Amino acid sequence: MIKPVFIGSGIAALLFLLYLGFDPVPLVLLAGVVAAVLFLAGPRVAQQRTGKLRKNGKSADSIPTVDFAEIGGQERAKQELIEALDFLIHHDRIADYGIRPLKGILLTGPPGTGKTLMAKAAAHHTDSVFVSASGSEFVEMYVGVGAQRIRDLFRQARTLARKHRKTNAIVFIDEIDVIGGKREGTSHREYDQTLNQLLTEMDGINVDPDVRLLVMAATNRKDMLDPALLRPGRFDRHISVDLPDKKGRLQVLRLHTRNKPLSPEVDLEKIAAETFGFSGAQLESVTNEAAIYALREEKSEIGPEHFALAIDKVMMGEQTDREASREEKERVAVHELGHAIVAERVRSGSVSRVVLSPRGQALGYVRQHPGEDRHLYTRDVLEGQIRICLAGAAAEEMVYGSRSTGAKNDYEQAIRYARALVETGMSRLGIIDPGLIDSREYHDEIRAILAEIYDRTLEDLKAIRPMFDHLLMRLLEEEELSGDDFRKLLTKCA
Ligand code: ADP
Repeated sequence: MIKPVFIGSGIAALLFLLYLGFDPVPLVLLAGVVAAVLFLAGPRVAQQRTGKLRKNGKSADSIPTVDFAEIGGQERAKQELIEALDFLIHHDRIADYGIRPLKGILLTGPPGTGKTLMAKAAAHHTDSVFVSASGSEFVEMYVGVGAQRIRDLFRQARTLARKHRKTNAIVFIDEIDVIGGKREGTSHREYDQTLNQLLTEMDGINVDPDVRLLVMAATNRKDMLDPALLRPGRFDRHISVDLPDKKGRLQVLRLHTRNKPLSPEVDLEKIAAETFGFSGAQLESVTNEAAIYALREEKSEIGPEHFALAIDKVMMGEQTDREASREEKERVAVHELGHAIVAERVRSGSVSRVVLSPRGQALGYVRQHPGEDRHLYTRDVLEGQIRICLAGAAAEEMVYGSRSTGAKNDYEQAIRYARALVETGMSRLGIIDPGLIDSREYHDEIRAILAEIYDRTLEDLKAIRPMFDHLLMRLLEEEELSGDDFRKLLTKCA
């Protein structure tokens, strides 16, 4: 609209100046320069207007090169996804059978498990162009902008497919729960419009006969999604992408160390066992941090010690240079030693590091080897975990006759285990409905469990006081002990 008015008035002004007898050459030259500048800036301004979507979509990612083979673990999820993608690849046969085309696939699971990676591999597998956006990018102050962005995203997918002469396109929306949350009660108008636009786009997904579109979305909160999104014909294929098990972790570690100089002493299987609960992204981070530690030390190979530091960093946070007083350091050593000794008694071979230097929020820490991946907990296992949690405070009480605030997190963890005992019917209360039981009774039982285990742990530590004191001296000297060194000391003192 603006451009023609601008040009028209320019020509009129020029004619008027000519009529008055001015030389038009400098003016025409100036107009030329201004026009050239506007022309060059044009696409960038337009790009800024549509924001991140355009940036993401037009990035080198529009035709991903990620292959399913580059995703570690997740065998079941990969298999399910590949089967679902057959709908896109063998669309003719699907049509022959009168099967409704697949429009949406929902990937559910914790962050960093490889959902984005899966969506990209899906695009590679089906020879599709790939455009992506995150739910949070649609949340704007202005009503209507989110819906416009959804329209842009789908239009962009079709345009890109044409440009690259592809017949398939995948639109990936990460964090879909941000725009697709349940619309009960106090819903937000902007979210509603964005979600409605997404539903409209999905319903009319076949408007373009030349480009077949598939929408993939990721969330960690499937329970939060509006049922309208999950209806047949929308996101009706759900694939869960869980945290990797030990075998999966090993595969992810192998993938991310392919390009790194590993020392022959590095045992990836051991690292996979030690990283229970880590996501693919955290494992990638471990390999990267290990390489950075090796580089800092100017070592030609990445060794087990670099991996040990990297796991600590990813698990607990960056090392801090908070300087502790001698007195405080000693208390931290007593506390951590309590945890470490009891951990070895509960499950021998389980300590993988005892460290006195502060990292993240902790002043010192004991990292434990979780053993096998565990999905079932018996009463013994839960009580053992509670003993380990309370051992830090018990050791402080034994040595100083008093406890400190350092045990707050330990108590929180111990309470979680005690709750699990009560709620799974393994306490004195028997099998109960936690929602119906009297809260006083519930609290008293938790307190009794913790008090009993605490007293027992304190007695156990008192019984080995001479050994404790000797180990304490060694730990204060060394400041850091590997699990193996700690166990050697334990057997020597026993
Ligand atoms: P999500 O979308 O589930 O949050 P991403 O796919 O964005 O996770 O993963 C982030 C990064 O973590 C990836 O780029 C990759 O380096 C690493 N990663 C995550 N899961 C895996 C996996 N299963 N195999 C290999 N690398 C992985």
